[in-house]
Amino acid sequence: MIRTPDEIAKMRKAGRVVAEIIEKTRAFVRPGVTTLQVDAVAREVIERRGARSNFLNYHGFPAVICTSPNDMIVHGIPGPYLVEEGDLLSVDCGAIVEGYHGDAAYTMAVGEVPPVARRLLEATEASLEAGIAELRPGGRLHDVGRAVQAVAEAAGFSVVRKYVGHAIGTEMHEDPQVPNYWPGTPGPRLKVGNVFAIEPMVNVGSPDTVELDDGWSVVTADGSLSAHFEHTIAVTDDGPEVLTRA
Ligand code: MG
Ligand code: MG
Repeated sequence: MIRTPDEIAKMRKAGRVVAEIIEKTRAFVRPGVTTLQVDAVAREVIERRGARSNFLNYHGFPAVICTSPNDMIVHGIPGPYLVEEGDLLSVDCGAIVEGYHGDAAYTMAVGEVPPVARRLLEATEASLEAGIAELRPGGRLHDVGRAVQAVAEAAGFSVVRKYVGHAIGTEMHEDPQVPNYWPGTPGPRLKVGNVFAIEPMVNVGSPDTVELDDGWSVVTADGSLSAHFEHTIAVTDDGPEVLTRA
């Protein structure tokens, strides 16, 4: 799907709302807050900026963000969970402006965390940046996953296979998917106007995942820590433009 400059401009607006959700929720999270309170911070941003939530009611999802602590990889439901000193907390968030979507995620350390947790955050964020750098006109989509995987595995971690990135535009999840690993083929050729959400999920231990009984929360099968970073990025003549970065 090729987005026109006018459509990209709308996605830039959605991306700015998402960037503010990232900024405000990051500043709010501290020991003793609940993940439901973090969701309320995101709701305030969406409402104040006249945006809509793309998470709320998505297949029945009950909140505007996903909050996934520690060994939870993605899709955690905000609720009574009390954030603790030493936690890793992943926040996945999005917004719709004028019918166009933004989608991003980050994982943060709450206070002091073990060295392996710090290294996991650095490697996962670096893997996202390596993936973003592959989004140039004429490049191949699956080089994103090759780059993500190389960075994550060089740090001694593993990349989740079951959940992947995606194209994004008038829907949050559009085809094609964007694997965070080399799937064995180069994939589609990249064109100016393509927009993707790249979102590496990286585990300290094995890449295997388990879905909990709530029908949403996905955790690592071995209980190891996991991190998740995501941005929405447009392919432009000048290279990748990260739309969800402040
Ligand atoms: Mg997301
Ligand atoms: Mg996404």
